[in-house]
Amino acid sequence: MPTETFEFQVEARQLLQLMIHSVYSNKDVFLRELVSNASDALDKLRLEKLWDDSLDADVSDLHIEIDIDKDARTLTVRDNGIGMSYEEVGQLIGTIANSGTAKFLQELREAKDKAGEDGLIGQFGVGFYSGFMVADEVTLLTRRAGEGQGTRWSSRGEGTYTLEKVDDAPQGTSVTLHLKPADPENQLHDYTSPWKIREIIKRYSDFITWPIRMVPEKSGDDGATPEPETLNSMKALWARPRDEVSDDEYHELYKHIGHDWRDPLETIRLQAEGTFEYQALLFLPAHAPHDLFTRDFKRGVQLYVKRVFIMDDCEALLPPYLRFVKGVVDAADLSLNVSREILQQDRHIEMMRRRLTKKVLSTVKEMMTKDQERYGTFWREFGTVLKEGLVTDAENRDAILAVASFASTHHDTEPTTLKQYVERMKDGQEDIYYLTGESRQSIENSPHMEAFRERGIEVLLLTDPVDEVWADAVGEYEGKKLRSVAKGQIDLDAKDEDGADEDREKQTEEYSGLLGWMKERLDEDIKDVRLSSRLTVSPACVVSDAHDLTPALENMYRAMGQ
Ligand code: ADP
Ligand code: MG
Repeated sequence: MPTETFEFQVEARQLLQLMIHSVYSNKDVFLRELVSNASDALDKLRLEKLWDDSLDADVSDLHIEIDIDKDARTLTVRDNGIGMSYEEVGQLIGTIANSGTAKFLQELREAKDKAGEDGLIGQFGVGFYSGFMVADEVTLLTRRAGEGQGTRWSSRGEGTYTLEKVDDAPQGTSVTLHLKPADPENQLHDYTSPWKIREIIKRYSDFITWPIRMVPEKSGDDGATPEPETLNSMKALWARPRDEVSDDEYHELYKHIGHDWRDPLETIRLQAEGTFEYQALLFLPAHAPHDLFTRDFKRGVQLYVKRVFIMDDCEALLPPYLRFVKGVVDAADLSLNVSREILQQDRHIEMMRRRLTKKVLSTVKEMMTKDQERYGTFWREFGTVLKEGLVTDAENRDAILAVASFASTHHDTEPTTLKQYVERMKDGQEDIYYLTGESRQSIENSPHMEAFRERGIEVLLLTDPVDEVWADAVGEYEGKKLRSVAKGQIDLDAKDEDGADEDREKQTEEYSGLLGWMKERLDEDIKDVRLSSRLTVSPACVVSDAHDLTPALENMYRAMGQ
């Protein structure tokens, strides 16, 4: 079978260009990426074999191997894991098969304007391609477990790659980097040095649960081959005492399982003892992934049973509104071949989910009191998702409300919590007012706001689509009603001015002719015409009944065709 040449997908090519011309200072991370992929491949094979014993694959010594050839200036990372079929190589390595790619690249460009080229690579995970930071040619030889034929992929990163079918490929994948010429000025980045490789593995990949072995240098004439050296300790971080593990180590684990290059915002540890024992190590990322609101977003944490990896994206362990949380849960008493269906119904899992949910929420609460800035970052990135919980998780509604914050007329840029809002409420104000809309500006320009502005009454400015829904569903906070200023009769004066009611009656009588005429003329479109104290500049505005849909919800339902 001849070698075929293919073009990289446009987005892939752009990412590759970034890698090739990268001046990113921390190039060492390419090795972490390759090891991370190899480890995933071993996990996958172990599981596939567990489910299907007839799979023709050798799982007796699953491991990762690093092989240096000083003379040829190559570095090879090899695994005997799941491997890839011919089609898979083209799909997985030649394209960025992600629905959010366009958005991702847009972010890349924006970040480039802001951060410059250098900060760029560190901000976005690009996995396999990072090899091109240190190599001018990369070849990959792979054979999918259970299949007879292998595939060789090769590229110089410049727009095209080649694919070729191979007959004698070993099971799994080996990635060979043809390293760029040595830089005599910079011995620090000599990736043909065993010392250097040892250091990188120790720093970034120590917790990987598969052995990472260094292939010994070929010995001379005596023919004796020394034993390969295992570079990592393979200790599960969540099982080690907290004071033995550094923040950096936790962060490296996060990067591996979260496929993120950045440090997490927060690390959460939980040890549950008793009848159902488990350990959890959860992370709150510092940035929302771009596909968080797409239907195919992979949610959930990794599930282990007694240090053995069982599944990725275990959605039974956290509710959907915490889908951005990454991490590991290691349960002592589950069966090794537990299925997703069983997990969904398991009573212990249900208890775990409740406990983990509370732990995440209490961590956010703690962040809020101890570190305003970090909390601010968290809420900016994940507040919209968390608010879904106000609608779907009645049990934790108060805990979510307690960590929620909202834009408000009180301050141009600083959001407020409901607690702070209530503390600022004026004498006689009984309700919490809000208005929903598309943007802060459009809400502030709404005629509904006039009377509130005039009287200095604070209004929450809610701009997420989910706001309409939760504000309705929640109804009140600490005994104070949540009221949309666009709904029903809001009588701002009744409380503070005696006789206002009388005045109103008198005025209504005076204007009854006009009101009656307007009601008649607009009969088809409205329910009622009332005199109002809510306007100061605009002569009139349209209001919904307290129980009607607000305009934004009406639009939403209309858009959904209802
Ligand atoms: P990610 O690991 O975040 O998915 P990568 O760019 O690192 O992104 O890898 C892309 C894909 O290529 C992986 O998801 C995997 O399917 C495949 N892949 C990469 N390396 C290997 C490997 N050693 N064995 C099997 N598949 C691999
Ligand atoms: Mg990867």
